[in-house]
Amino acid sequence: MSETAIDKEAIKQRYREERDKRLRPDGNNQYIEIKNQFGHYLTDPYTPFVEREPKRDHVTFAFIGGGFAGLVTGARLVEQGITDVRIIEKGGDFAGTWYWNRYPGAMCDTAAMIYMPLLEETGHMPTEKYAHAPEILAHCQNIGRQYNLYDNALFHTEVEDLEWDADNHRWIIRTNRGDEFTAQFLGMGTGPLHVPKLPGLDGIEDFKGHSFHTSRWDYDYTGGDDKGALMDKLGDKRVGIIGTGATAVQCVPHLSEACGELFVFQRTPSSVDERNNHEIDPEWFKEIATPGWQKRWLENFTQNQAGGGADEDLVQDGWTDLSRMYRDKMRDLFAAGDMNPKKMMEAMEDVDFEKMEAIRARCNTIVEDQDTAENLKAWYRQLCKRPTFHDEFLQSFNNPNTTLIHTEGKGVERITENGVVVDGTEYELDCIVYASGFEVGTDFARRCGFDPKGRDGKTLSEHWGPGMRTMHGTHVHGFPNMFIVQPTQGAALISNVPHNLTESGQTIAMMVRHAIDNRKQVMEVTQEAEDKWIELLLSGPGRQGGVIGSPDCTPGYYNNEGQARGPGAELFVGYPQGPMAYFKYLEEWRSSGDFEGIEFR
Ligand code: NDP
Repeated sequence: MSETAIDKEAIKQRYREERDKRLRPDGNNQYIEIKNQFGHYLTDPYTPFVEREPKRDHVTFAFIGGGFAGLVTGARLVEQGITDVRIIEKGGDFAGTWYWNRYPGAMCDTAAMIYMPLLEETGHMPTEKYAHAPEILAHCQNIGRQYNLYDNALFHTEVEDLEWDADNHRWIIRTNRGDEFTAQFLGMGTGPLHVPKLPGLDGIEDFKGHSFHTSRWDYDYTGGDDKGALMDKLGDKRVGIIGTGATAVQCVPHLSEACGELFVFQRTPSSVDERNNHEIDPEWFKEIATPGWQKRWLENFTQNQAGGGADEDLVQDGWTDLSRMYRDKMRDLFAAGDMNPKKMMEAMEDVDFEKMEAIRARCNTIVEDQDTAENLKAWYRQLCKRPTFHDEFLQSFNNPNTTLIHTEGKGVERITENGVVVDGTEYELDCIVYASGFEVGTDFARRCGFDPKGRDGKTLSEHWGPGMRTMHGTHVHGFPNMFIVQPTQGAALISNVPHNLTESGQTIAMMVRHAIDNRKQVMEVTQEAEDKWIELLLSGPGRQGGVIGSPDCTPGYYNNEGQARGPGAELFVGYPQGPMAYFKYLEEWRSSGDFEGIEFR
């Protein structure tokens, strides 16, 4: 056996051991749903609540969610001349995840040139390769203003009930603010990660100090602001942060800079690759920003990242790097006349090992204390968990005030009135920051607070009991005039979710324009078309061999915390030929004007 082969086996064995340490039978149930006595963790710290009269009117298009999905769909509708659009949003303003996530250091992890939607339409130049959160929030507000989406929007409003009124061909929408209005068309873009969760730890209610979730950052307590000002009220505080996911990786350096003492409680290390952020040069931007530039960049990234054989890599980041390495290996295999599925799988694995070894080596190079460096190493394939990219996170552990509490995969044991206990040791704290993430695998109706009732009086949850069924991930038979804006059963491109949303928004706007122009009140995907789409999805490779969501991975929200998924797991897939082919298909589908599979009545 060659030396590389021996190393590979050892690494695989370590991956298995590390996963097994973390597997637990309670899966998603280990987390607490934030409600009742925990409700204060959800309070909006950013915008005061304003009383208003309930709405009792009718709009052409109602959209649930004021994040990227709602904004791009709203903008595309307005471009199509449909201006009577009402966005309903539980936050106090637009921006969705970028409204809530104002923790220090928040920035996009996918290059801003492709991550921030409608850059060309708004004329905005991202100031950095990876824009910080305040810029993304301001950009969302700017989209809202440019497309007049504010006038009709309902903020601090949560939809509680949705019902199709078959007699009047419209949706009835009821909210927690007493609204009961109707809309001819309904869009939903609530995003996958909008409900914060807490670890279900004994004693969590007993803590006498201060605590908050990262998505409701309490700058009143910490001092500083989301634009990077030092959190000057933490200088004499002992702070603990629970969790080391993508959020913690971004805010730990800022806490480390500010806190008297910082304890980072880690259950599973993140893979932290280099970031190399830099300012965008306006001269360079002027040169590249020729008409159609953002579409070109989006497509180039998708081709690079998700297969499609692009000649150049415009974005050049950590996402495309892995694919680039993989393509080089494929070229070698091809040149050697050795292209077969087994060799290709092996090549994918080799690239992953190479990448992860380099990421692990970074820990030893950057972190001075070698025990800490070892404990910060991620032992799984890169796409098992959300990859992260940062140039200051690992460095934080060189600050004498910052201590990594490595829990051997067990996590925090319990909370006391004074602090946090790990392996029998109590860490006394003034403040606990929960970087414990968001609900993903929980029930749709629980996460969203509503469950649309369709044409036959069945709710979407009931309809999807045996598994999600749509055409394009957007249209559901039995739920007329309803559009879901999300990636699954469509492109399923998760490295740049806004690309999926932009394409859906454009498609929906063209369909609504078509219905109005042709005096059709109702549109609905036929049963046959929906079945055909599902059949097509299932004819693809599915999850087989894919890393994301694999049960071989260390547990996390990508793989349902390592638990078997419920019925219909095989339906969480995308277009068999990949995202780029899907976008091309969708463009042709909508541009033909036939909207095949949709019945207009
Ligand atoms: P995650 O779900 O990724 O992380 C939660 C963290 O809490 C994990 O490290 C988890 O450990 C840890 N945890 C849970 N219970 C315990 C416990 N009992 N003791 C110790 N640790 C515990 O949430 P994030 O908010 O970090 O990120 C969520 C997602 O949001 C990301 O995956 C990404 O998609 C998105 N995001 C995007 C950003 C961007 O684009 N810029 C920035 C930040 C987030 P374990 O891993 O063992 O479960």
